[in-house]
Amino acid sequence: MLYANLNRGAIITMVAFTGLVFGFSDASAIVQSKLVLWSLMIIVSLGRVVDGFYWRSKFSLKSSAKEGFVRFALGNILTGTIWSLYAVLIYQQMDLLELASTMVVLSAMAGGAATILAPSKALSSFYSTMLLVPLSILALIDPTQEYRVLGFLGVAFWLAMLSSTAQSTSFLLQVLSLKERNANLLSDMQRKQTEIEQANEALRQANIQLDDNNTNLEYEVNKRTEELFELSNRDVLTGLLNRTGLKSFLHTALADANENNTTFAILFIDLDGFKKVNDALGHTIGDSVLETMAYRLNKFCKLPGLARWGGDEFILVLEDVTETDALALANSLRAKVSEPMRVQRNNIALDATMGIAMYPAHAEEAHSLIELADFAMYQQKRSQRGAVCVFRHETYQVVRQEESRLEGLSKAIDNRQLSVVYQPIVDANTHSLVSVEALLRWHFNGETISPVVFIPLAEKSGLINALGLWVLEQACIEVQQANINHTHALSVNVSVLQLLDDNFIADIDRVLTSTGFPAKRLHLEITESAFAEDRNAIAQIVAALKDRDIQISIDDFGTGFSSLSQLQLLSFDSIKIDKSFVMSMTSSNQAIVRATLMIAGEFGCRTIAEGVETLEQAHQLQHMGVSHLQGYHFAKPMSVSHLTDWLTQQEK
Ligand code: C2E
Ligand code: CA
Ligand code: CA
Repeated sequence: MLYANLNRGAIITMVAFTGLVFGFSDASAIVQSKLVLWSLMIIVSLGRVVDGFYWRSKFSLKSSAKEGFVRFALGNILTGTIWSLYAVLIYQQMDLLELASTMVVLSAMAGGAATILAPSKALSSFYSTMLLVPLSILALIDPTQEYRVLGFLGVAFWLAMLSSTAQSTSFLLQVLSLKERNANLLSDMQRKQTEIEQANEALRQANIQLDDNNTNLEYEVNKRTEELFELSNRDVLTGLLNRTGLKSFLHTALADANENNTTFAILFIDLDGFKKVNDALGHTIGDSVLETMAYRLNKFCKLPGLARWGGDEFILVLEDVTETDALALANSLRAKVSEPMRVQRNNIALDATMGIAMYPAHAEEAHSLIELADFAMYQQKRSQRGAVCVFRHETYQVVRQEESRLEGLSKAIDNRQLSVVYQPIVDANTHSLVSVEALLRWHFNGETISPVVFIPLAEKSGLINALGLWVLEQACIEVQQANINHTHALSVNVSVLQLLDDNFIADIDRVLTSTGFPAKRLHLEITESAFAEDRNAIAQIVAALKDRDIQISIDDFGTGFSSLSQLQLLSFDSIKIDKSFVMSMTSSNQAIVRATLMIAGEFGCRTIAEGVETLEQAHQLQHMGVSHLQGYHFAKPMSVSHLTDWLTQQEK
């Protein structure tokens, strides 16, 4: 700071000194001592200026401040000393004007120094003392009045200077301290600012890192989600959708169809003959076949809704198509699927049976659509493999009814839904009762279901044995207990499946024993078609029955394909002429009746014409030689109580 005003101070000093030296005397009269002092002052001042430049450049290199002060003080002391020497040495030659001027110049210099040297109180005081005190003292002790006044003024100004210096210094120090505090605050602020900027930068970096991490994490999560989707929604072998995948696909397809008011088809594909391939060639080849099929399906339709439903079943969702479109597509798909393939040196050709269900025409829920397409496929498979079938409600209804009846039939005995009715068989000549035929009835869901419907169901499901046994037992009990003539026989229909059952004969024995019904009054009616079955087995059973005196009738004669040679083997007692020949007595039907009568005559057995509805028919048949008649003309099938009433009525 002291150095800051050095140049100005040095120049003022040189100018003032030069003015004083050369301003008050002629060039010739300038005393030597003045010139010496002037030269000294010029050298010292210039030296200080040079030092100033040097020091400022050095100070910027952060040298010690103390060293700078010492150098400055040295220059200052030299300058002050030259001034005081000047006063002391030149005083004697000064006239009043020069003294006054010198006093003014020195006072001005001291005044200027008070400000310039303010940073150092000692230097400032020393300088003004050197400038003013020697000259003022010399003037004070001068005998001349005016000189003393000037001396007094000099001393007074010096004292004023000292006090002003003190103030200046303290003021300056305050300013400096404020400045320093300011600078500190400023640097503090800058430091804080830098810290904040650094923190901001760190935060920015952290954010970038976080963003990166998040992106990575998102990518990882997406990847994992995709992997999980693949795992849980794709079939491992074929890469097609699995059940779960298909369900979620259908969920979307349904929503889309609803939103856009469109239809879609579910195509259920089942390979024909795959099981054989698997069994004969092994699972590895089976798997290859499935993979090839999946590849073909995928390549052909290029649709996302293609799934492996299980085993050799595939499902294809055809969006936005009509039933006709779906059918056409399914047929061309079948052509592709059934192309021969070569797997590990095996030529394999499989066909496919397909079922189609339409949304929303056939069902509105995904699982129902699949079920119905499966149903259509299954129905097609049952009638003819290797074809496409569109779901039909009517077929579905029939099949479902059959299923519900099957279910009901299995509980029919326990639920006491069965009953037996009896239809009389009369002598063709006397029209008197000879026997009764037991006919089964099933009361289910408020209706009486015909045996024509439920007997085939029972045969299909294996329930026939239990039902047949029940009828036999029930009929034996009822007829035994009924108040009817003990010469009348009881005819019970027996299904061929019943007949072939290992326990059949034992069951008959047990029933006869338990009910006490005489075997010779029991007739079993066996349909003609039964004789197409295992001839020897039937012959054995018939023989066993005959051993027990049980009589055998061939039912529905003329409708089956029994040959005379077959019939010859069996010793039967009567032939029942089927009602279809009786009810319309055309000439060809009459020929059949005559032929039947001839055969019966040859085998020495009775003939029973069923389905006699009119007296005319009865007469005609009697004329032709039929021995027994049965039909609505005589009586409809009826309960055992009605039968006794009917008998009483007849006997009157
Ligand atoms: P089916 O053995 O030929 O019995 C005669 C069928 O003709 C009976 O029908 C009877 O009601 C009917 N019928 C009798 N007279 C007339 C007539 O004048 N006109 C017409 N239109 N029909 C007449 P149903 O009772 O409905 O029995 C149908 C068939 O069911 C039976 O034919 C028999 O094959 C079978 N069935 C009935 N009950 C049993 C049974 O307990 N066991 C077995 N295995 N089959 C049975
Ligand atoms: Ca019958
Ligand atoms: Ca019949």
